[in-house]
Amino acid sequence: MSKTLFTNLNLFDGVHNKISRNLWMLVNNNTGKIEDFGSDNEPFADKTVNLHGKYIMPGIVNVHTHVSIDPRTPDGDGNADIVTSTVRAVKHLHQLLKSGVTYVRGCGCNHEMLDITLNKLQREGRLTKVPRMVPCGKPMTMTGGHGILFGGGDEVDSPDEMRKAVRTNFANGAKCTKVMATGGVMSVNDNMTQPQLKVPEMKVAVEETHSKGFVVAAHAEANPGIMNAIKAGVDSIEHCFYLTSQEIQMMLNKKIYLTPTLIALWTIIVHGDELPKWELNKALDCMHHGFDSIHRAYKAGIPLTFGTDSGCPYDGFTNSAIEFQLMVDKIGMTNFDALETSRNSAKLLKLKDYGTLQKGKYADFLVLNHDPLQNVKAVQQADKAVYQHGKREY
Ligand SMILES: [Zn+2]
Repeated sequence: MSKTLFTNLNLFDGVHNKISRNLWMLVNNNTGKIEDFGSDNEPFADKTVNLHGKYIMPGIVNVHTHVSIDPRTPDGDGNADIVTSTVRAVKHLHQLLKSGVTYVRGCGCNHEMLDITLNKLQREGRLTKVPRMVPCGKPMTMTGGHGILFGGGDEVDSPDEMRKAVRTNFANGAKCTKVMATGGVMSVNDNMTQPQLKVPEMKVAVEETHSKGFVVAAHAEANPGIMNAIKAGVDSIEHCFYLTSQEIQMMLNKKIYLTPTLIALWTIIVHGDELPKWELNKALDCMHHGFDSIHRAYKAGIPLTFGTDSGCPYDGFTNSAIEFQLMVDKIGMTNFDALETSRNSAKLLKLKDYGTLQKGKYADFLVLNHDPLQNVKAVQQADKAVYQHGKREY
């Protein structure tokens, strides 16, 4: 059984708000898991890697991505054929891992089997240097609803149609469900204040998904759609730009996670000149209310997850870690609480062996020059080393 010993490292374990200094970490190369940490009496190993006093932290778990969508266009180039979309998705997955994201949830591609197939190839070792994946397959939406824009939505218009669609999606290999509870910023024909899938439809999605042991993410930007998603009992609500205090209380009671996707709004504003006016106006309104909503949710203690909505306009795959900085700068989170959103993401997805660096967990970690608890910008370091299961990938 071969082992690798990493020496001379400073550890942020993702659990405690402190750096443990001058440690060694022993990784079992066969399992990819961490066997032990220590500060003296270095154990025997087949290979030693001296990290020269650098900082290590858990690889990022990003619960909201659209890997086949082109962030360089206002409409995501959703009409692209499957070959073009797949080549683009593979490039984006490489970029995500290089930027520090070691696990992703797919929240919708523009071809239904795309993320499911890439996930299968990754698990079989035929697609390497990419994050591990939780693919959603087809997002569930109403006829003409949000997500059809990606060309990849499954249009369902009754609880029975939802049951059939969710079961089919799982039979095809999906590992989670995405439902569209409201319109959105990127769809020209609707608005975030328009509710879309109804409570009975989403309740069926939750029932079927939970019976498989998976989780449901609801796209919900405003009301009454946010309330509908809460009543349906989804596991996480994505965006939540217009939250009421009643909804915050209900999310707390039902232990629903919130994925802010701040970077999606922020990049639209930064590139506002290049977008259609209708899209920019929606985004400006969302940002104004969104930062306030998320701040109130954070203060109330709702667990926030880490998601970037990468694939949205100008929201690329190379800079996921900017989301941590926006959480600190725009929402008022502490550095530790911002970094903890990645651990919450692992909890949401029930990835019990990921999200933290502890004995028995997988050795998915980033090597940084600077302390991320002092400044979360440290995670944005372009040439950081990225390890999965103890093996260096970038
Ligand atoms: Zn999205």
